[in-house]
Amino acid sequence: VEAQLRQSQKMEAIGQLTGGIAHDFNNLLQVVIGSLEGLQRRVGSLGQTGQGADMTRFVENALRGADRAANLTRRLLAFSRRQTLDAKPTDITKLVAGMSDLLRRTLGEAISIEAVNAAELWRVSVDANQLESALLNLAVNARDAMPGGGKLTIETANCMLDESYVTRFDGLDAGPYVMIAVSDTGTGMSKEVLERAMEPFFTTKEVGHGTGLGLSQVYGFVKQSGGHVRIYSELTQGTTVKLFLPRLAGDAAVDERPDHRPVPASR
Ligand code: ADP
Repeated sequence: VEAQLRQSQKMEAIGQLTGGIAHDFNNLLQVVIGSLEGLQRRVGSLGQTGQGADMTRFVENALRGADRAANLTRRLLAFSRRQTLDAKPTDITKLVAGMSDLLRRTLGEAISIEAVNAAELWRVSVDANQLESALLNLAVNARDAMPGGGKLTIETANCMLDESYVTRFDGLDAGPYVMIAVSDTGTGMSKEVLERAMEPFFTTKEVGHGTGLGLSQVYGFVKQSGGHVRIYSELTQGTTVKLFLPRLAGDAAVDERPDHRPVPASR
């Protein structure tokens, strides 16, 4: 319990720091991008030969760099829970089903996909685009952890998180949550990697293969949505990432019974 608390305090501190930097940096970057776009329009009128062509190229390069920097700051803002979310009542079962083609293409031939759906999943209020990005990030990680093939499982369930579970995590309320669990049969993570996996820029992948911003997007988005992320992983056995999103407040209850209660003990 203490380790989990320390962990969330650490994430909190990193979030404060990166969020502050990303926010100010992003404002400055918008000035740079705006000016470059103005320059681009002027340069366009110089024609596309000689000096005109040179200047066009310089401005294009600068804009490309600035766009990448803006993308990076967006992801840091997501981690630090400062992005603008467009939360709407969402049917997670439909959302996951709608991603099946994308997941199929992302995972390739050697990985099978299984969906285990709760019969009547509670609705949540969530930014559907961000949730799709989060699930895609998890799928990409699962794929990378199963280079020789394997199985990806996406399970959804209604969960009641009770006091004994939530007191382990500060800032989480007891109550009804929808759980989405993404499991793989891949390499798993060592304890050291698991402890740092959600930190921004933490990656064990080769340069050019990982940014270390996948799980931090997942973490920031879920936290900002009032939810919780839990990762279970065992070396050579595989990894399960569980997202808990609070049930839509005041939603007409179809069936009050939760499917199951998560087992908080780390495997
Ligand atoms: P990236 O994928 O760019 O490295 P992430 O933040 O998504 O960044 O993941 C950070 C690290 O956590 C990965 O480099 C990897 O070591 C570990 N990791 C994440 N997901 C998994 C998984 N499903 N199986 C094994 N290791 C994982």
